[in-house]
Amino acid sequence: MRTTILLLALLGSVSTQALAADVHPVEQPLLHEITGRVSADELHSTIATLVGFGTRHTLSDTKSEKRGIGAARRWIKSRFESFSTACGGCLEVVTPSQTVTGTRVPQPTEVMDIVAIQRGTSDPDRVIVITGHLDSRVTDVMDFKHDAPGANDDGSGTAAVIEAARVLSKYKFPATLVYAALSGEEQGLYGGKVLADYAKQQRWQVETDLNNDIVGNTHGQDGGVNNTIVRIFSEGYKRALLLDVRSAARDGRSLPSAIKDDGNSFADSPSRNVARYMSALADAYLGHFAVRRVYRTDRYGRGGDQVPFLEAGYPAVRLTEADENYTRQHQDLRSEGGIPYGDTIDGVDFAYLAQVTRLNAITMASMAKAPAPPAGVDIEGAVKSDTTIKWKTASGAATYRVHWRDTTAPQWQRSYAAGDATTLTLKDVVIDDAFFGVSAVSADGFASPVAFPGDAGSFGGTTTATP
Ligand SMILES: [Zn+2]
Repeated sequence: MRTTILLLALLGSVSTQALAADVHPVEQPLLHEITGRVSADELHSTIATLVGFGTRHTLSDTKSEKRGIGAARRWIKSRFESFSTACGGCLEVVTPSQTVTGTRVPQPTEVMDIVAIQRGTSDPDRVIVITGHLDSRVTDVMDFKHDAPGANDDGSGTAAVIEAARVLSKYKFPATLVYAALSGEEQGLYGGKVLADYAKQQRWQVETDLNNDIVGNTHGQDGGVNNTIVRIFSEGYKRALLLDVRSAARDGRSLPSAIKDDGNSFADSPSRNVARYMSALADAYLGHFAVRRVYRTDRYGRGGDQVPFLEAGYPAVRLTEADENYTRQHQDLRSEGGIPYGDTIDGVDFAYLAQVTRLNAITMASMAKAPAPPAGVDIEGAVKSDTTIKWKTASGAATYRVHWRDTTAPQWQRSYAAGDATTLTLKDVVIDDAFFGVSAVSADGFASPVAFPGDAGSFGGTTTATP
């Protein structure tokens, strides 16, 4: 009992660095090297080229070599191919597409994603995805004629994807990395669905999608400047499991067994554990740069390409700058009352975008070097003074680490190295008062994100979701 009291007293005073060390137990020179290779000049050059295509609207011209989304797609494909040439063919470039019609797509239109796949050396079915959308728009979402530079929305995310591919293709990883420039976002999140469907067809075990959308502006509409924080949005209870409930109710089936309180309440998800993981990486590896975790799927009333991934049962987060400027998003190029409107390249802060890109790159590298997050996590300890946590062996894991936190705490607060065991009893830690999870650690000290008990906390895809 005394130990429990000591633990709770400590919780209030755990420093940020201590938390980062708990989630990422070994400092990795590789991750420092990767941050050093990300170049603001490369990001600038990519966005300047993208803006040069005039408009990248999903309904724009696909034949011209100079203008429209077709030219932009071919240029991105050529970038991926040039990186692949430089790494001895390490990238496979594919262009999954679907022909769609909808409210914002009046005529059947091919929505094509440009995707580079860097196969893992020993665990190629495990997949870490980065996405940004290459399409752009102006005030009228149906206007595919006028210039829509889309420098920040989402030239910034697309540039982060391309730069991550350039830097990470110089290394080899046990798991697969996927770099994807998506189309059709502004017309209805079509490109995200195209890629999520492709992932299902390929039977990828997607451990996360890092969706970068609007990640380059630092001058907010309110006049504030914020160049040291990126927001990461993550859903609460898995959307795919909630869709299960809806379809069960519609079909008159009984409630799926996955829908129960799995021990971490109804307000937590693998996506949140990816956000926590990234937050700890930023604290450990990026000076003067931090993550503001937002426990929402997206900004209020907005959506992004992470949503089709979540609906498919894959963990996914959205990265967006801390302080948005709405006069620069979805606007015709013009000046009104001395205020410039439009998404032009002078609104992108490349030093800031480089930091966001570094965070993406080290997250992908760290997750791909680490084992898979443990599956089959379970806890027991009702009406006892100790808590026992169990899990299954994870491929590539040398050791495991048990994590726990106060039920109201946003980040994991305490951890305990469990060696190569698959069960651990925490003496005098009362199960009622904390949430619990487990990470898997490779022999060279790369840790996975934390998985918590049940389907709700599992990184494995849900099997029954029918969105
Ligand atoms: Zn966007």
